[in-house]
Amino acid sequence: MKITLGNTLPPYPAFIEGIRRAPDRSYTLTPAQTATALKNALRYIPLELHEQLAPEFMEELRTRGRIYGYRFRPAGDLKARPIDEYRGKCVEGKAFQVMIDNNLCFDIALYPYELVTYGETGQVCQNWMQYLLIKQYLEELTPEQTLVIESGHPLGLFRSRPDAPRVIITNSMMIGQFDNQHDWHIAAQMGVANYGQMTAGGWMYIGPQGIVHGTFNTLLNAGRLKLGIPQDKDLRGHFFVSSGLGGMSGAQPKAAEIAGAASIIAEVDSSRIETRYRQGWVGHVTQDLSEAFRLAKEAMERREPCSVAYHGNVVDLLEYAEREQIHIELLSDQTSCHAVYEGGYCPAGLTFEERTRLLHESPDQFRRLADASLRRHFEVIRKLVVRGTYFFDYGNSFMKAVYDAGVKEISRNGVDEKDGFIWPSYVEDIMGPQLFDYGYGPFRWVCLSGRHEDLIKTDRAAMECIDVNRRGQDL
Ligand code: NAD
Repeated sequence: MKITLGNTLPPYPAFIEGIRRAPDRSYTLTPAQTATALKNALRYIPLELHEQLAPEFMEELRTRGRIYGYRFRPAGDLKARPIDEYRGKCVEGKAFQVMIDNNLCFDIALYPYELVTYGETGQVCQNWMQYLLIKQYLEELTPEQTLVIESGHPLGLFRSRPDAPRVIITNSMMIGQFDNQHDWHIAAQMGVANYGQMTAGGWMYIGPQGIVHGTFNTLLNAGRLKLGIPQDKDLRGHFFVSSGLGGMSGAQPKAAEIAGAASIIAEVDSSRIETRYRQGWVGHVTQDLSEAFRLAKEAMERREPCSVAYHGNVVDLLEYAEREQIHIELLSDQTSCHAVYEGGYCPAGLTFEERTRLLHESPDQFRRLADASLRRHFEVIRKLVVRGTYFFDYGNSFMKAVYDAGVKEISRNGVDEKDGFIWPSYVEDIMGPQLFDYGYGPFRWVCLSGRHEDLIKTDRAAMECIDVNRRGQDL
């Protein structure tokens, strides 16, 4: 059996107005690397269409920094349908198709046309040709086979056993001297590396609800360990500040509310604020810093939960708090610092729209502004920490990004990153001693069986973790 795309060229798609688009990732390849990039994309296409598609792919590479193969994207929204409406020879093959579509639908994906689910750069696969081929393989997959995927490229169906994994996926395996941002950027443009984040390239992203109980546990335990909150109390009357209302970070205001806290989360992109507000994940929206802090203060006085989205840059928010001597008890950051120079971190002084334009027009200037902003960000956190704020890294590479921006003082030994950084990560300081050390995890559950009673069981297990921790019992 041969799985191919067929030789009818689909019409070029119309892009729907209002759907977020990924910024230009910038084209930096040499002529030889460009030839490889085109070959890699064209290997999915029948020979007779190469002449027509090669210039189209080249244009995508030149203007978007990637070959997405937009023409092969199925038209409209890819909203996941009920499992029985998918074709397949086993339930897993159908379930994976539900998951992939769920990762790519307009309501959930960050940049649906560019196959980005969340985390600025986390993609399901590299291009739409791969998407179509993966779907065909999943339709053929049997319980005696395993589909192997390498950075979005389907290697094929291999004979295995019913108790073996149905799909094995690797993403972005950069090794040895190529394991650095510069070479990764080249590999991604050449079509040999897909950045999968944690659950985009693993197809199991389920929106911020996938992380809300983990974020709740982190915040509650931070309160217990650092603010002395007793086991039978929650964060009522306490204050948490962070940034990001994106794919994962969007869980922060809801988790803080469940834990009883007052919170302010800074977000530069108004469209993401609107999404979270519409979905009920954040309670208030303001562009006014004094209003944001007033709302939080009043809620703390009433000992009521409250979440505020501040539309603006987190650096401005923190500098305001420092200037006005407002005490922040718990502070973190969830900008996408794992991809600072691809637009994951918006420099202070730029609006979100200016950030997107600058990424396209002058990536070098963007880089300089991002570095300057990270240095300011570090300085203001340092001042707040001296005043008693507990800052923790939330697994977003913030401290590494600050180090890369030239701040050597953020490293423990003042020289390199080998001994870690001066502030703790939530894993070592908050979750380790309280939960991970006792085998708690994982943060996400995916129910593939397609049976309703299994889904209920999975959901109940997640809720029990929240309840048990709220009551202060050992897990
Ligand atoms: P995302 O890109 O969807 O969201 C980040 C948000 O930050 C975006 O909406 C962006 O507009 C906003 N932003 C960027 N710069 C800003 C600035 N200076 N001020 C205010 N807002 C700004 O990414 P995500 O999925 O929410 O994840 C965020 C980061 O957190 C990633 O690096 C991710 O890997 C990490 N993360 C780690 C864990 C963990 O458990 N370790 C969990 C969740 C997220």
